[in-house]
Amino acid sequence: MKNIIFIAPPAAGKGTQSDLLVKKYGYVHISTGDLLRDEVNRKSELGIKIADIMSSGEFVSDEIVTELLKNRLTQNDTNNGFILDGYPRNIAQANTLDALLNELDKKVDAVLYLEMDSTIAMHRALGRITCSNCSRGYNKYEEKLKPLKEGYCDDCGGELISRSDDNESTFKVRFDAYIENTQPILEFYREKGILNIIDNSGTPDNTFALIESVIK
Ligand code: AMP
Repeated sequence: MKNIIFIAPPAAGKGTQSDLLVKKYGYVHISTGDLLRDEVNRKSELGIKIADIMSSGEFVSDEIVTELLKNRLTQNDTNNGFILDGYPRNIAQANTLDALLNELDKKVDAVLYLEMDSTIAMHRALGRITCSNCSRGYNKYEEKLKPLKEGYCDDCGGELISRSDDNESTFKVRFDAYIENTQPILEFYREKGILNIIDNSGTPDNTFALIESVIK
């Protein structure tokens, strides 16, 4: 299986599409946001240090995120196809990732850019809810992404919660950070010949079909 990077504005559906790929093909989903949130939830020394930065919508330092990612990528389950979601988020991280993967004898096969209008992304962010137990994502405003039983996860019955950084003002900070830092990465991967632009304006199923046509 291929190793994939998702690039998209916040709340564009990277988590939803990753869940679908994991379920259908068995990819390993590596979300740096999830790795960081785990630290915050566990109230580790690092988690306490980064909690405020994360709720503000600003980036956590490259060193911290890269260290967490490195630990994750050295685990054996990443040998048969992984999805990177949320990393790289700037050019420095893209260069670091190249070096890291080289060191680990791995490579990125495809970069999938989910195109998304900022107003739609904001609407999605405000409706987003996540399982507090297994991290599966839902959306209270989108029919196809609503849970069967309001407030609870279809998979594990865990309680569904909103992320502290999915409010309107924090979303704007995250969106601006994306435009300034993350969009330039597209050129980086276009030059390498592995950038694929996915029309993300339809339903999650439409987007998934387009993604499947690329990864096959
Ligand atoms: P996400 O779940 O990808 O939306 O990430 C949530 C938050 O985690 C971001 O707003 C940042 O504070 C932090 N974060 C996640 N990935 C990175 C990264 N690659 N670099 C810096 N900060 C990150």
